Amino acid sequence: MAESSEGAEINLLVVSLRRHLQRRRRAGIRLLPWEARSSAESKVDGDDRLLGDRKVDLFAEPTPGSDARSLEDLRAAIGDCRRCKLCSGRTHLVFGVGNPRARLMFVGEGPGRDEDLQGEPFVGRAGQLLTDIITKGMGLKREDVYIANVVKCRPPDNRNPEADEVAACEPFLKKQIDLIRPEIIVGLGKFAVQTLLQSKVPITKLRGHWHRYFGIKLMPTFHPAYLLRNPADKKLVWEDIKQVIKELRGENA
Ligand code: URA
Repeated sequence: MAESSEGAEINLLVVSLRRHLQRRRRAGIRLLPWEARSSAESKVDGDDRLLGDRKVDLFAEPTPGSDARSLEDLRAAIGDCRRCKLCSGRTHLVFGVGNPRARLMFVGEGPGRDEDLQGEPFVGRAGQLLTDIITKGMGLKREDVYIANVVKCRPPDNRNPEADEVAACEPFLKKQIDLIRPEIIVGLGKFAVQTLLQSKVPITKLRGHWHRYFGIKLMPTFHPAYLLRNPADKKLVWEDIKQVIKELRGENA
């Protein structure tokens, strides 16, 4: 009796596994979850940039857009997003902007009021400061780099995004990074950096040092909005940015 109920349970597992793999195949995912993970891990070490899930759940549904082949595909997959409560207050979903082949990517926290109204990241006062860092500081154009945020919709009253909002949106950032494959990410501010690095270490300790995000070099620095309130710390950001410039020029080798 016990044996036959065990058999039925195994049968059920086999059927649900088969259905799950069929759904993945229909979604265009060819790799098995454990293959995806081992290829992602080896690519981190080998400086290849296929990003895989940190935690592989055999029965999880694939994230919408996980099979996107371009940023346009990914944007289309996100659609008129209702995956978290931030959707109710937004004017525009702020996907990201810039060169899809950028060597350098900036990642902030989430859209503010101006970004929500215009549908573009970093266009308000803090955005103007970031633009100055890119153009006057680095000698690049805004269109040369890519700029995105951890969450794509404005949190009310510019509060920090909440855990469920980050959980709903972070896979899209991860996929953006995977599609762009930048050489360097500059993490802007405590929230973005701690989210990317899954760390609680203060930004004052993280900034100015190289870290890795799935094999990609990550330089944490202060958020431009923080610099507007603490202009004396601009010199520290300049130190961080100089390291990024050196790395882009291959002068750190
Ligand atoms: N702050 C952010 O973190 N992102 C923006 O897009 C604007 C302000």
